[in-house]
Amino acid sequence: MLHSLSTLTSLVQDISRAENAVAAMRQIVVKLTELFSVPVCSLYLKSSSEQRLVLAATAGLADVAVGKVSLALNEGLVGKIGRTLHPLNLADAPTHDKFVFIPETHEAPYHQFMGVPLIHLRELIGVLVIQGTEQQRFSQDAEAFMVTIASQLAGTLQSIQRSGAWLPQQPVTHDIDRYSGVKSAPGIGCGRLEVLHLNLSLQDITQQRSTDIDAELARFETAVARLTDELSLGASRLGDSLPSDIANLFSVYLMMLQSPELHERTVLHIQQGFKASWALHETIDELAGAFDQAQDPYLRARGEDIRNIGNRLLRHMLSKTPLDTASEQRELVLASDLISIADLSIYRPEQIKGIICTAGSALSHTGIVANALGIPAVMGVTSLDLKKFDGEEVIVDGYRGECILHPQPALLKEYRRLQHADAQFIDQLACLRDLPAETRDGVRVQLLTNTGLLADVTPGRKHGAEGVGLYRSEIPFMLHDSFPTEDEQYEIYRQVLSAYSPLPVSMRTLDIGGDKQLPYFEIREDNPFLGWRGIRFTLDNTSLLVTQLRAMLRANVDNDNLRLLIPMVSRLDELESFVRIVDDTLEELQSEGVAVVRPPIGMMVEVPSAVLLLPRMLKYVDYVSIGSNDLTQYLLAVDRNNPKVSALFDNLNPVMLVALEQIVAHTQAANIPLSLCGEMASDPAAVLLLGMGLRTLSLNAHSIPKIKWLIRSVNFTDAQALLHKAQNLASEVEIRALMSEELKRLGLKNLSGPEPATIV
Ligand code: PEP
Ligand code: MG
Repeated sequence: MLHSLSTLTSLVQDISRAENAVAAMRQIVVKLTELFSVPVCSLYLKSSSEQRLVLAATAGLADVAVGKVSLALNEGLVGKIGRTLHPLNLADAPTHDKFVFIPETHEAPYHQFMGVPLIHLRELIGVLVIQGTEQQRFSQDAEAFMVTIASQLAGTLQSIQRSGAWLPQQPVTHDIDRYSGVKSAPGIGCGRLEVLHLNLSLQDITQQRSTDIDAELARFETAVARLTDELSLGASRLGDSLPSDIANLFSVYLMMLQSPELHERTVLHIQQGFKASWALHETIDELAGAFDQAQDPYLRARGEDIRNIGNRLLRHMLSKTPLDTASEQRELVLASDLISIADLSIYRPEQIKGIICTAGSALSHTGIVANALGIPAVMGVTSLDLKKFDGEEVIVDGYRGECILHPQPALLKEYRRLQHADAQFIDQLACLRDLPAETRDGVRVQLLTNTGLLADVTPGRKHGAEGVGLYRSEIPFMLHDSFPTEDEQYEIYRQVLSAYSPLPVSMRTLDIGGDKQLPYFEIREDNPFLGWRGIRFTLDNTSLLVTQLRAMLRANVDNDNLRLLIPMVSRLDELESFVRIVDDTLEELQSEGVAVVRPPIGMMVEVPSAVLLLPRMLKYVDYVSIGSNDLTQYLLAVDRNNPKVSALFDNLNPVMLVALEQIVAHTQAANIPLSLCGEMASDPAAVLLLGMGLRTLSLNAHSIPKIKWLIRSVNFTDAQALLHKAQNLASEVEIRALMSEELKRLGLKNLSGPEPATIV
């Protein structure tokens, strides 16, 4: 029982359902006393300000000690665990030289003691302790299980610990829940949390109140109407082809749905101030409970039917369909584990004020699309239990990688002010649209845009992009439900090329694999980032590549601004094959009488082998574009989507500076134009790229004004000096600190977003 995975899973689930942080901590300690059959379990959390371990919850020690008793690191057994970050498993704790007796805990003479540190992403969160009366060490199995529990709980406890709401000197309001994730798209957004892909049943619903009774009543009524329609439709569609007893079920269900009891009880619960989902939970429990008691098996089965109806009603209550969302005018913050482009396309872009993903990382595809659309996004918010907050007010701070759930009105007001200030700052920069991106000492930089969505063409033009440096052609593929035909592709590419003509547009051929999956062509691999990706995939699926090239080349006929770009090049023979296929396709089209011309061909440098082989690869291409996102991932062996290692993923790691310098040197020696199109171009790090000699950057449209402002505010010589300083530093942390100090000195700190004045 003790060591099973299911025990652990149910423990984690129970905690996630707890109403607030204090209740969650209480659940943990109580459950652990039961699991280990011990009289005491205590949870200590580290107070960030004083570096002490404070008793945050206990089962078995005196409740009055909670929040009062604390130990310095290395003080007592708990402090020792906090200092050494190592478990202690003792047969007789009082005889240990570190043992201290704390009278406030009213601790009985417990001998058996086991404490384990709670560590999340290298950081000490607290210490978890169990104590028993026997005089022997806990078993090896028990120790291993306790360590497993601690590692599972550390993430959840980190957000509680960081919120500080458990500390005694602060009033415990439980009103503010602040969750950290990874900064993915800059900006500040406020709105109602719209959780996608919820597959809840009534037993997952926790008690929640609402002050908007009318809205909750409407939510219930709408759900009833929708389920009525669904059942009636089902009855008429399937009625003739089903045996009559099964077909009758539809009418039984419909009768239950229309029953006055279901209606009246739910309405009553809502009027008592509960959310519709909780009201339904209560009603179904009451009604099904009555049937559960029945002797007659037929009647007992009706309990099941009622629950079934209840769950179906709940899903309608919580469902997000194109119909209701499109008609809603509300400002929304979309949230899920991962959000696909198809999910976003259900909503009007202006309605989406923010994006939160519990999985994913800064450079996941959702993040890239959020950047493209100018929507603030935070990824990898692993400890946020979305189910609990669906429909609540939320703030997304993409500058700091934070989300704040049900903020107090004053805090919301402050963030709305910041949102406004940020928008104003960006508006002020609009006057730069037609001015060149040129340093104060006259070095000209070309600013292109990254795109992939047709919706993104207008922002690119509006912000003065001088062309498209990266068109991610996989994005339209992701929005389809099967491979788009040559003509469908032609129509999309033609619109993009003509929107920018005569400015250049670099269209990258399909780059799927890794985190970019097509819903209709699943690629299952153990190691997708090292698998069937980019050019490897399209060369192996030659007909897909030829179809795409034909569509691009045809779309270029009246525009003449196409440049082809090859993703994920890692071998010389890939370039050779690609160039041959382009030439064959051109020949074929010419033989069909289409007036195609050979466009420039470029390669992405985003794999370490391409950096090292670059001098030999350059003879095949007309230009090079650096994909700093993947290059960072592969140089550092750090998954760009994994929140656990997101702190290690930084474009400013010293190895990137070394690699970039080599790429610049090789391309300059061969006189081949070079650009950079990863997210690094929209980071203030762009100054370093400038110092290095890069003269073309491609970035998301919404970042162009800020980066142009940055370029126009510095001297090239300053950028060079800064680069030289950065090249001598040992880590990305030091380089970032140097950058922010320099930018502040130059009066450019607005680049990292406005500072909140009164975050409480
Ligand atoms: C990159 O890897 O930097 C890049 C621009 O390509 P993507 O983000 O689409 O993989
Ligand atoms: Mg890439």
